[in-house]
Amino acid sequence: MSHKIGIPKALIYYKFAPMWRTFFEELGLEVIISPETTKKIRELAISSAPDEDCYTTKLYFGHTMYLKNKVDFLFIPRFGSKHKTDIGCPKFIGLADVLRSMYSDLPEIIMPHFNIAKGRDNKISFFIKAYLVGLRFTKNPIKIIQAFRKAMIAYKQYKKQLIVDIETLSRWEQSEIMVNDFPILKKDEKPLKIALVGHSYVINDSYCSLDIRNKLRELGVDIITSEQMPRELIEEQLAEHEANLYFEFEREILGTILYFINNKTIDGIIHLMIFGCGPDSLAGEVASRFSRRNPVVPLLQLVIDDLTAETGLKTRIEAFIDMLRRRDSSFAFQLPALRIT
Ligand code: SF4
Repeated sequence: MSHKIGIPKALIYYKFAPMWRTFFEELGLEVIISPETTKKIRELAISSAPDEDCYTTKLYFGHTMYLKNKVDFLFIPRFGSKHKTDIGCPKFIGLADVLRSMYSDLPEIIMPHFNIAKGRDNKISFFIKAYLVGLRFTKNPIKIIQAFRKAMIAYKQYKKQLIVDIETLSRWEQSEIMVNDFPILKKDEKPLKIALVGHSYVINDSYCSLDIRNKLRELGVDIITSEQMPRELIEEQLAEHEANLYFEFEREILGTILYFINNKTIDGIIHLMIFGCGPDSLAGEVASRFSRRNPVVPLLQLVIDDLTAETGLKTRIEAFIDMLRRRDSSFAFQLPALRIT
């Protein structure tokens, strides 16, 4: 009988899932991913996570608690960074140890550490670490090497499908194509173009984001997300504006906002921020300053946490969309960051 390994569907799951899943499946394990966040998982999160944690970290606890009696192992990698100088959130590194120290009844946690910026990891050490994880489940080196190779292919394919190239972005900006679901339009209504910006584990978790993608779709909005943006444009924007950020994932967020503020090719930007998130606050403040200086493309910053009410968020979004539809093309405005509870 094969071992079951559980992967919580939260935080960096949304960055690396195809790689991990392929790797463990190729090793012969049964991979159990926790389901989409639900009310029950949120309740588990609130009751099991430290109060001071950000909402998304709490959700990670909830997903872990959901899995703990269903699997033989948990996979909670300690992820530092995959960038040579910039780092991810320190919480990604500490989560496995925090969970283990708080809950002694958890299954064994597989927790490899990977950090290019601070741990001097590289492709070789990455392979060695993956190999050591593989050895935990099989003594067959060929099987581990093949699993690693297939996992890397799956990851590359996933990134290729997710991230658009510059030409595709340009065609989207000119409304020649859509890069997400087709918006629902009323009679004679044109789609609005909006960049939905935020951490992948927020904008892709419909419960955490209060289903914002669907709400925008129902309001006739054609979106692109920050994780879909061409990497070279993001880096170009940050270099051009000397807005260098130490946090790897916030580069994607700020670079996307800067790109659209400067290029003015869309109707608006919505930035989903998590209350209590240090890196988000930093990127949000810089974005807000750039937006005040150049307010042609309005920026709506929504701060959410576990107390945010769906109705409140919906009202704000509807008001924003309504303003975008009504505004005269020569009228520019900027909305301040809003905390909605
Ligand atoms: S980056 Fe922010 S939202 Fe993400 S885990 Fe860290 S503190 Fe939480």
